[in-house]
Amino acid sequence: MSTPAVELVALTKSFGDVTAVDGVDLTIRDGEFFSMLGPSGSGKTTVLRMIAGFEQPTSGTVRLAGQDVTGRPPFARDVNTVFQDYALFPHMDVLANVEYGLRVKKVPRAERRERAMAALESVQLAGYAGRRPTQLSGGQRQRVALARALVNRPRVLLLDEPLGALDLKLRRAMQLELKDIQRDVGITFVFVTHDQEEALTMSDRIAVFRDGRIEQVAAPADLYESPASPFVAGFVGTSNLLEGEAARSLVGRAGTFSIRPEKIHLGDEVHDGDATAPGVVHDVVYLGSVNHYLVRLDAGPTLTVLRQNLRGTTDEAMALRGQRVTVGWAPEHVIELGADQQLQKEES
Ligand code: ADP
Ligand code: MG
Repeated sequence: MSTPAVELVALTKSFGDVTAVDGVDLTIRDGEFFSMLGPSGSGKTTVLRMIAGFEQPTSGTVRLAGQDVTGRPPFARDVNTVFQDYALFPHMDVLANVEYGLRVKKVPRAERRERAMAALESVQLAGYAGRRPTQLSGGQRQRVALARALVNRPRVLLLDEPLGALDLKLRRAMQLELKDIQRDVGITFVFVTHDQEEALTMSDRIAVFRDGRIEQVAAPADLYESPASPFVAGFVGTSNLLEGEAARSLVGRAGTFSIRPEKIHLGDEVHDGDATAPGVVHDVVYLGSVNHYLVRLDAGPTLTVLRQNLRGTTDEAMALRGQRVTVGWAPEHVIELGADQQLQKEES
């Protein structure tokens, strides 16, 4: 196996009383699209800033391509960062913005030009070299910011919520584009987001952060299908937790379990062999292509059931509100969760 692009060993950062990052161990592979996902305040940005060298760890080690860079300043690390508030120079055209870093590094003019044009091509903006930032859309500006980082040909590109300022439709388009660009240029991307859908869409692997620690590292499908803890199950998708007495009566044994909303059948869609439970439709949430049915089970918990709007009318769907129903699920779709790591620590 090749040398990992990034290795973090027992990385910790405290700001006074606040432990922002608490003993993070992480290995990011060369060429990987790696995402750090977690709620606001969970330590993602602080980890990224320590990889970049903008922040010194309180303890622990940062290795890039096998080398310990922990004490090195940002410019002595082979990484570049793209932030959410990508400040382009307004008085320079797109080409000059992209060339800027190379000019600072005294790269000769012809090579500068060539590399900047190649970077603009990789983000599909070759035709925009002469424009000013104000003459670009939000998505185009974001791509210029990306080209400005790519032009330095870093081994690792760090991206801190770079799509956060874009509206939903553009963000979705840019997610796919970013993934394509990353595949083309072959650079390791470390991408920070609090948006689980974004992380699932783009990543080879995802680390889920909580309170400065990593709860789980896994590929998107594994994270969704085999979440390690109730926190991960709830943060990545809708979890539908069954625990305590409800778990014992519905699953048949003690533990904490989760069933994804699309795995639960409703009413006449319940299959032979499904485990079943009676309840009342507490609410119906219309979402266009799908509906969410919130079913309050007699056994206690309320489950979200997702059903595609393949047939039937919206009125028919809404009429289920308040009705008694049976829900069912194939026993193999019950995910058994470990206890939350935090709870384990507190209890031990
Ligand atoms: P995220 O990027 O996941 O939202 P951050 O890494 O920005 O999280 O922050 C993690 C924790 O560290 C938060 O509680 C935040 O308030 C705190 N923190 C981050 N930077 C500083 C700082 N420079 N001074 C004091 N506290 C900070
Ligand atoms: Mg942040």
